[in-house]
Amino acid sequence: MAVASLSIDLAALSENWRHLNALAQGKAAAVIKADAYGLGLPRVAKALAKSGARSFFVAVAEEGAALRAVLGKGPQISVFSGHMSQDTDLIRDAGLTPMLNSIDQMLRHFEALPGHPFGIQLDTGMNRLGMEAAEWAALRDLALEHKPTLIMSHLACADTPDHPMNAQQLQCFTDMTQGVDAPLSLAATGGILLGSEYHFDLVRPGIGLYGGLPYVDARPVVLLDIPVIQIRDVAVGETVGYSNTWTARSPSRIATISAGYADGILRGMGANAHLYAKSSSVPVVGRISMDMIGVDVTGLAQDPEHLELIGAHQSVDTVAGFADTIGYEILTSLGARYKRVYI
Ligand SMILES: *Cc1c(COP(=O)(O)O)cnc(C)c1O
Repeated sequence: MAVASLSIDLAALSENWRHLNALAQGKAAAVIKADAYGLGLPRVAKALAKSGARSFFVAVAEEGAALRAVLGKGPQISVFSGHMSQDTDLIRDAGLTPMLNSIDQMLRHFEALPGHPFGIQLDTGMNRLGMEAAEWAALRDLALEHKPTLIMSHLACADTPDHPMNAQQLQCFTDMTQGVDAPLSLAATGGILLGSEYHFDLVRPGIGLYGGLPYVDARPVVLLDIPVIQIRDVAVGETVGYSNTWTARSPSRIATISAGYADGILRGMGANAHLYAKSSSVPVVGRISMDMIGVDVTGLAQDPEHLELIGAHQSVDTVAGFADTIGYEILTSLGARYKRVYI
């Protein structure tokens, strides 16, 4: 079989959630937008629910409806993008809780679904989603009268602990929620690690659950093993791959492995990427193709049958570094072609 296998360690995922939940002053929710960061919504959601997660966040109402079908009645499912036009049926039928981002969303929600649960998202400086201070000041009494399930905001720089933006946003959130009698939430994974003053009633970890930075103590969740299709000897002066970007300077053995940029192994990684044969590091050579990658296995005592890109020897963040990106982008780029194995 030439399909690469992506193993997802559900026990490690659950342990990461339990640790973050134990670290939280209040409770930990679970953020499972974008198909649970590319790892597969149904299995991830079920494992987290089994571990005790009762509150889930998704980006859009459609994801919320898919999640409701998996989890059934009970857990709270909140939607960051709020109540968009045409979301009303999904929000009602799937029992979703939109985080309302503006006066328009609030009026739409109160009018379309009176009495239906909602939360409020405030902008404390990131300028992405949520009501700004002046808008909130005008709507606050009306919103509170309808008893929001949560008032939340999001930190822009939480992965940089000494960034002044963190304290600034904390102050802004504290000011905007002064005297408010509703559960509060500010921290995602990075915010949890900033300290308990950032925690409030509910924290919203995503990447930390899936083993990514900035949660350095996370247990790795993803293992990506790629089969070798063919191995060949390449003589001095011969080239490998598209555009002849790599030339053998000494007699080499080159393995062609069965995955490529269509599987989320970004083409830009080419020049820097390594894989592992057991504990030996082996470099990518030449351009990364859509479905194949050349790897120099000259130094190995034995021809490998498969090579590991992400796993015990190399984290998802190390792999992200090959393309100067972040673990989040690598996880959410993992393609549909892998055989996902839940262990
Ligand atoms: C994605 C997201 C989260 C989760 O963030 P992580 O950094 O993955 O923990 C939390 N809150 C909001 C608003 C988000 O968009």
